[in-house]
Parts: sequence; structure tokens; C-alpha cells
Amino acid sequence: MKEKNGIPAGILDADPALALLCDLIRRPSITPQDAGCLDRIADFLKPAGFDCEAMPFGEVSNLWARRGTMAPVLCFAGHTDVVPPGPLPEWRSDPFEPTFCDGRLFGRGAADMKSGLAAMVTAALQFVAAHPTHRGSIAFLLTSDEEGAACDGTLKVVEALIERGERIDWCVLGEPSSQRILGDTVRIGRRGSLGATVTVRGIQGHVAYPEQVDNPIRRFAPVLQELHDIVWDEGNEHFPPTSFQVVSIKSTAGAPNVTPGELEARFNFRYSTEWNYESLKRKVETIFDAHDIDYALQWHLSGEPFLTGAGPLTDAVVQAVREQAGFDPELSTGGGTSDGRFISPAGAQVVELGPVNASIHKVNEYVNVADVDNLSAMYRRIMELLLPDA
Ligand SMILES: [Zn+2]
Repeated sequence: MKEKNGIPAGILDADPALALLCDLIRRPSITPQDAGCLDRIADFLKPAGFDCEAMPFGEVSNLWARRGTMAPVLCFAGHTDVVPPGPLPEWRSDPFEPTFCDGRLFGRGAADMKSGLAAMVTAALQFVAAHPTHRGSIAFLLTSDEEGAACDGTLKVVEALIERGERIDWCVLGEPSSQRILGDTVRIGRRGSLGATVTVRGIQGHVAYPEQVDNPIRRFAPVLQELHDIVWDEGNEHFPPTSFQVVSIKSTAGAPNVTPGELEARFNFRYSTEWNYESLKRKVETIFDAHDIDYALQWHLSGEPFLTGAGPLTDAVVQAVREQAGFDPELSTGGGTSDGRFISPAGAQVVELGPVNASIHKVNEYVNVADVDNLSAMYRRIMELLLPDA
């Protein structure tokens, strides 16, 4: 591409992925708004033989699109919603007006993850045109609520698919997985995330009469120490060691001469596949039970860990990156959570391959213009490798 201070309109006509990306950025789809993105995508998919099914839940728009009725099902997944732009004066241009400069396309969602969407949709259109009798099925699972509560998005769609016996075999998420160069990192799993709130009960009283009080801070302190000191695991081949962090402790009677009657603390685990929700929860309860403490725990599971090992999906993704980029990607389980946590428990192999994530959620979010077509070519190659002509 030879642009200097912006790309002439003619180039957009010749580049469907870039044109679709610009169209999507112009739609201010701040979570859980979809701003018409999914309808626009369905407009492209329907004429190519995809059955497009809107699956709204609450305020959230979702799209399940599928071409073919046979297994295996190769599903591309992602989200149309974006985080708010933040301080507008710090943007070099309107966050919802795609702007080209120095080989970059600026706009909210340019990297997370409207370029992924544009690349996967155009890849599918080109693949289907060249291979109308491909094996299996191609599907899209798209939501407008990944950045927010994520309750009525991918989770609900996957539940509905399971209920009616529709299975996803392989899933490629277009989240921005790359660190410095497109394709340098492919995510093949994620750590689990488990939060808890504990309430410790004591007896409020005058500090001058220690025999009449039961101080919940003193009760909790040794438990917290133990939770911090314990080596949860050493990690394993694919995951770093499990980590425990306390994030808040609240306890006061509001006066300097009164001990509090209650303490509330919150903590979080990021955990490897050495644990699951049940085993981790049991271990924490065992630790509390070993102390003389009156407590109640409330758990919040944000996602179990998942890992996609060696197999057809990882092979295809690695080969597609190698052919297009000229190097092998690093297979990683780092980063925060993604909707992969909802798709993996349904039995699907899940990987994430998308653009460089250096600017995501920041002001002046951008994607390298050339990466959009390169990513689309990688996705198209993954389809060719996994769904050859029947
Ligand atoms: Zn994202």
C-alpha cells in the first residue's frame, strides 16, 4: 500500500476488508450498543449462503450465522462492542471517524476488534466464492457485549446452541492477540479467574476491654497471611503459577476506641489448569476452617481456565501464520479473559488470532492498515486447511 497522508477513496473500493472496517468504526457501538454492526455483517453473509439468526438477550445483540449443516463446524467469533473513547481532546481525530495516517488506521475498535471482524467476514466471503462445496460448516458467533458484563452475549448464545444440540468443533476468536507484529502471538488458552468476598463476623466493643470484644481483623490476619504464603502450584508447561491477590479489606467501627464487629475482604485468583473452580474453592474453605474464625464466603467465577492443545486447529493456525508472515507464532496463554472462556466449555477447541494489541482500550487506538488484509488472508487459509472441498 502506498498511502502517505491518507488513503484515496479508490483504494477502499478495491479493498473490501478495509471498507468494512471503516464502516464498522463509524458505528459508535459502545457496550452494549451494537449500532447496526451485526445487521451490516449479516447483509454480507446472507447472499453468501449463511443462515443468519439474530439472538438478542436483554439489551445485547448477538448474531449466529452458519453456512452448511454438516460437521465439523469452524466458527469465527468476536464482538462488535467497543470501550468508551475516553478523553476526546487527547484523540488525534474523531474516534468514530476512521482516519488514515502513516500506514495506520485510527479509530475506537480499530484493533479491538473491528479489524478482526472485517477480516473474518471478508475471508469467509472469498473462501465461499472459491470453494462453494467446502466440507463441514462455517459459522460466526458475534456479540455486542464482550467488554461489559458479558452475561447476555456469547455465554447465552452458547447455552442456546448446546440446548438445541448445535456443536462448535473449532473456534477462532479475532481478538487482538499479537504483541508487536501481526501473528507473532496466538492465544491457545487463558488462565481461570475466580473472585470471592469474605465476611468475617466478630463482636464490636471498647478497646479498653479486650476480653469483651472479638476483633474480626485479628481473626482474618493469619488467614490472609496463609493465603498469600501458600504456593498454589508451580504452573505447568502452558501456564504461569496460580496467583492470589487480596484487592480490598473493609472493617471499622468508625471510632478510634471501638473494635469493629465485622470485616469484609475481596480477593481474586488467576489460576492455571492445575485447579478448577471446585478444587480451588474447597482448598480455600479448608484454610479458613483450620482457623478459629466465623466467616461466610461468596464466590464469583468469571471463567475456568482452558487450553487448546496440539491438533488440527492449532496446526492450521500455525501453518496459516507461517505462510503469510514467514515465522511461527508463539503459542501463549497470557492476557486477560475473553469470550473463549464461554465457548471452550461447550467442547470447542478455541484459539485467538488477531492484530497487534499495543493500542487497545487507549486513546488513538489504531491498526496497521496492511495487517487487515494479511489477517484476512490468514483466516482464509485456516478455512482452506480445515474445510477443504468435500
Ligand atoms: Zn476485544
